[in-house]
Amino acid sequence: MIDLRSDTVTRPSAGMLAAMTSAPLGDDVYGEDPTVTELEETVAGLLGHEAGLFTVTGSLANILGVRALVAPGSEVLCEASAHIARAELGAHAAISGITTRTWSAPGGQIDLDQIRALIAPDLGPYFVTTSAVSVENTHNFGGGTIQTAYDALADELDALGMPLHLDGARLWNASVASGVPMSAFGSRAAAASVCLSKGLGAPVGSVLVGSAELIREARVWRKRLGAGWRQAGVLAGAGLYAIRNNVERLAEDHAHAREIAEILADAAPGSVKPDQVDTNIVVADLAATGKTVASVVAAAKAEGVLVGGVGVTQLRLVTHLDASAEACRTAAETIARLLH
Ligand SMILES: *Cc1c(COP(=O)(O)O)cnc(C)c1O
Repeated sequence: MIDLRSDTVTRPSAGMLAAMTSAPLGDDVYGEDPTVTELEETVAGLLGHEAGLFTVTGSLANILGVRALVAPGSEVLCEASAHIARAELGAHAAISGITTRTWSAPGGQIDLDQIRALIAPDLGPYFVTTSAVSVENTHNFGGGTIQTAYDALADELDALGMPLHLDGARLWNASVASGVPMSAFGSRAAAASVCLSKGLGAPVGSVLVGSAELIREARVWRKRLGAGWRQAGVLAGAGLYAIRNNVERLAEDHAHAREIAEILADAAPGSVKPDQVDTNIVVADLAATGKTVASVVAAAKAEGVLVGGVGVTQLRLVTHLDASAEACRTAAETIARLLH
């Protein structure tokens, strides 16, 4: 099977497993796991922040990061297909009492005009207060897109004194593809999360970064939600290995995604624009092909290729370190044949 459903499907390599089994361990609830502490400090440093918090998922890092910036009964703004709005199962409302209003833009991009029109910092006692804006970079369901107006939005929010939350699950991909250092993105946000379990290939884990005070509070809430953990260095060791070995190679995944997009664009013109594939995600719109996502997913599976749907007409292929150039080409040619 060639599995391009997500970059979360990777298995730890021999080198990563060795790093996990040799990691020094302690009880992290007591703050005594040296490997967890090293991971948290490493990621905080990379993103230009004072402190970090290792979490079991990116969703938890986002739940903790957003709630640190947005009080119950107030709102966060985000793009309509943002992970925090679509894929965290209402956690920000169900757990934190936070409401959401959204803008909608091609590729999940920042749209400054729409955001300006949505921001309601204090309209009196009849309107929900906007407490933060959340941006996803790269944007997952937007097709792995890099935000082009990231700094412009950060400048405007700075001027308003409104905090930016960065869902940087795939910020590594944005950084490698653009050449912009992680810190240049991270330092613009009051709270930012990155995933270790996506393209970096670790089995588990994300890190939330922010000020020392924000992370102190997030650590309390992590424990309150039942997600404190003990000798978690066995997992943090995988994260450190991933950061040291698997970041630069993301460029290979980006090249593979571009090639997949070119093959699909040839087979189904207009379904995807290869020059808009910034990183490791290809979202192809099947609307004009007359095929349904479900039928293409099933037919591809029968031919040994796993892909996923992210919308009624949208097929998603994600490249990663366990899918070679040849496997990606085979997958694309299989889908192309099915679309033809
Ligand atoms: C994967 C992902 C997350 C976190 O997902 P978990 O499965 O909870 O680790 C958050 N944001 C985006 C954009 C993602 O793609």
